[in-house]
Amino acid sequence: MLKNDMLDQWDRENFFHPSTHLAQFARGEAPNRVIRTGEGSHIVDREGNRLLDAFAGLYCVNVGYGRTEIADAIAEQARELAYYHAYAGHGTEVSIRLAKMVLDRAPANMSKVYFGLSGSDANETNVKLVWYYNNVRGRPEKKKIISRWRGYHGSGLMTGSLTGLELFHKAFDLPLVQLLHTEAPYYYRRADPAMSETDFVAHCAAELEALIEREGADTIAAFWAEPVLGTGGIVPPPAGYWEAIQPILERHDILLVADEVVTGFGRLGTMFGSEHYGLRPDLITIAKGLTSAYAPLSGSIVSERVWKVLEEGTDAMGPIGHGWTYSAHPVGAAAGVANLELIDKLDLVSAAGETGAHLNAALRDALAAHPHVGEVRGEGMLAAVELVEDRDARRFFDPARKVGPTVAAALLKHGVIARAMPQGDILGFAPPFCLSRAEAEEIAAKTARAVADVLG
Ligand code: PLP
Repeated sequence: MLKNDMLDQWDRENFFHPSTHLAQFARGEAPNRVIRTGEGSHIVDREGNRLLDAFAGLYCVNVGYGRTEIADAIAEQARELAYYHAYAGHGTEVSIRLAKMVLDRAPANMSKVYFGLSGSDANETNVKLVWYYNNVRGRPEKKKIISRWRGYHGSGLMTGSLTGLELFHKAFDLPLVQLLHTEAPYYYRRADPAMSETDFVAHCAAELEALIEREGADTIAAFWAEPVLGTGGIVPPPAGYWEAIQPILERHDILLVADEVVTGFGRLGTMFGSEHYGLRPDLITIAKGLTSAYAPLSGSIVSERVWKVLEEGTDAMGPIGHGWTYSAHPVGAAAGVANLELIDKLDLVSAAGETGAHLNAALRDALAAHPHVGEVRGEGMLAAVELVEDRDARRFFDPARKVGPTVAAALLKHGVIARAMPQGDILGFAPPFCLSRAEAEEIAAKTARAVADVLG
């Protein structure tokens, strides 16, 4: 293909990029990168650079790039029937098949799946279902939602409010009312360095309990959480966290919404994070791994307990007033079916667990002893390296120095893409499940080189 010399200019003149420094980009001070193709764990940019994508896009291309099985399924569906809606009992064969496949893989006591397009809109659906549920149950005052600081649940109005990261609130007048945040289960960043892990878990539980008591349990509808904190820093929960939190929710009749947008469909080496940590959610949010991002599709998995109340509601009030034009889009559903079949055929959930453990071990071996590495942590095919100014004093770098983004840029020069997480100097890794052991070792070795390039 002939190189289009205008593309860089067109990009800066016309394209509003998400999560981007708009002014610097428009002035040409921030780089643009145009990706042309991908295969397995690698992508190739417009300049022909082949890069190992250790973040699978935005932790979503779980089966890896270039899967022709999924591309063919999408093309076939588009030819046969590119669209029909799902309102008022309509559907397509492929969306019904996918619903069955999702439920067959879901944790116990799940009943139905509603399909949307993005993680954000699926969480938005779940907020509405939580509110509807309490209205039907005659508890119109039980509406507030608790999420955690550093949780990430999207960037819409409600979902951006659920998100507990400053960047997503600042100058958008968020969070909205009805939203409360509680302590992040982030042991490394505990306020009191002398606190043991067990005491920290007790502290998180006590903070939650105190918040519920302050607000009144009869005003609190749901607790929203990712099984492993993702965008907030890739932080697996401290031991015993979920065992301490769930009984509190159950005692106060507060629904648990598990946001499995990152962890759903294998990233922790189990089909769902709920399974991994013994969660008993009432609603589950899914997206990314459902189609490995070959087409936009998300979902809200509804438990039997909530579903019964939704049915009761429609008997009382008529059809539920919720739906998108593109709910259960057949092209997305075709991608979902082909993706889940491929995951089974190649046993990619086990691969994520095994290669993920190898990646985590390799990162620890290569980096844990470095004086500017505070912590190397992870679970399954998720890992993080947290950089600090002084490891012994656990002193963090001044955010203005942008140490995380600088190390990520150095790593890119070595041909590996990691993500500089938005809050803290944290390098995040979430590669495709098809990553080889040799590629895992390459990521670790090159990350160590990049840290040495920047921090000595
Ligand atoms: N929930 C979690 C846990 C996520 O990580 C994300 C995106 O990264 C979302 C929700 C939002 O998904 P989307 O960007 O598709 O709206």
